[in-house]
Amino acid sequence: MAKIQMKTPLVEMDGDEMTRVIWKMIKEILILPYIDLKTDYYDLGLVHRNETDDQVTIDSANATKKYGVAVKCATITPNAQRVEEYKLKEMWKSPNGTIRAILDGTVFRKPILVKGITPYIPTWTKPITIARHAYGDIYKNTELKVEKGSKAEIVVTNPDGSETRALIHDFKTSDGIVQGVHNLDNSIASFARACFNYALDAKETLWFASKDTISKTYDHRFKDIFAEIYENEYKARFEAAGIEYFYTLIDDVVARVVRSEGGFIWACKNYDGDVMSDMLATAFGSLGLMTSVLVSPDGKYEYEAAHGTVTRHYYKYLNGEKTSTNPIATIFAWSGALRKRGELDGITELMSYADKLEKASIQTMEDGIMDKNLSAMSTLENKRVVDTETFLVEINKRLSSLM
Ligand code: NAP
Ligand code: MG
Repeated sequence: MAKIQMKTPLVEMDGDEMTRVIWKMIKEILILPYIDLKTDYYDLGLVHRNETDDQVTIDSANATKKYGVAVKCATITPNAQRVEEYKLKEMWKSPNGTIRAILDGTVFRKPILVKGITPYIPTWTKPITIARHAYGDIYKNTELKVEKGSKAEIVVTNPDGSETRALIHDFKTSDGIVQGVHNLDNSIASFARACFNYALDAKETLWFASKDTISKTYDHRFKDIFAEIYENEYKARFEAAGIEYFYTLIDDVVARVVRSEGGFIWACKNYDGDVMSDMLATAFGSLGLMTSVLVSPDGKYEYEAAHGTVTRHYYKYLNGEKTSTNPIATIFAWSGALRKRGELDGITELMSYADKLEKASIQTMEDGIMDKNLSAMSTLENKRVVDTETFLVEINKRLSSLM
């Protein structure tokens, strides 16, 4: 069989630890036999980030801006212990944070549903995709303890030097606390556009919620920016695609999500997204089945697994043990990126390969072949726990019969 040819390279961001090991196996076993793979390769492994003073991360993000589609392996975000372990020159920033800032992107997380792994809410028969606005609010706050007898005010110095003041609270009866938060119209608008674009792409309805009844200026601004951009730029395309944009209050949306069957996109303000993404990930079952894609407001895509580098398994691997690590979310990062590349370049074989790779992966798990963590959750009767390489070989058996 002739290998599938590509036109534009995929930006490939290699990573760390167990996922770096799996990355290579996925390419060798599942991709290179079928595709004449063209990538613009960046080694985001911590050793190379340190050697390049993290320039490689910036270069990889800029390449994503240029080519439009990237696939990323999980990477270590250094902490004090990693600085010691890798003898780092500095405690380099989170690569995901750097890439997200350069692309001005929003992260969408979507679970993979398979038979045998039942969500804690069994009526969720379709995936729920969650998007978090990862800028501002309490994550860029200023806060103070306040002594009884103090008066706290917000002061804004206007461009002409005049001041606008508003009382927060007169602390007459007790000590207390105050907090100042902000957001930017630009950032909210980028978030809104990324969500609208993603919804059109996925052909799924978009839900957004805030607490505008209580926060009549701050949260209301989010509601207004979303509504304005929807009316002016997306309404016609949503109607043509047969999908909706739906705004409601955050507490109402939580109730609706629980009662739903899934199959929509849930856009969240920063804090709501932080909390609710953990709730959804847990309720859907396994971190090994959670995919993630960063989408920029101008339609650039970076696909990855939601999980990290699976450090504990890596140390076993270094000791010569075969590990049973789930490669599925990383495989779906590749299939997502290859499908998008195929779409943009008009290569139907590439899109169809991506569909078959996903189908073969799901089939393997539904045939009872899976990693140790998934097996502990699966209700299937005939389960077989396999090491990562065997898992990939089993997927390839099914893939090759689909090709
Ligand atoms: P993690 O790598 O996601 O692993 C946490 C635990 O979840 C693992 O020890 C394992 O449980 C289970 N797990 C996660 N993915 C799995 C898979 N594919 N197959 C089987 N089990 C899986 O999170 P972490 O231990 O908190 O972080 C490790 C490193 O990853 C850190 O350096 C962190 O900075 C980095 N990280 C990177 C990203 C990213 O690049 N997007 C995201 C998160 C974390 P058991 O050990 O019980 O088997
Ligand atoms: Mg969280």
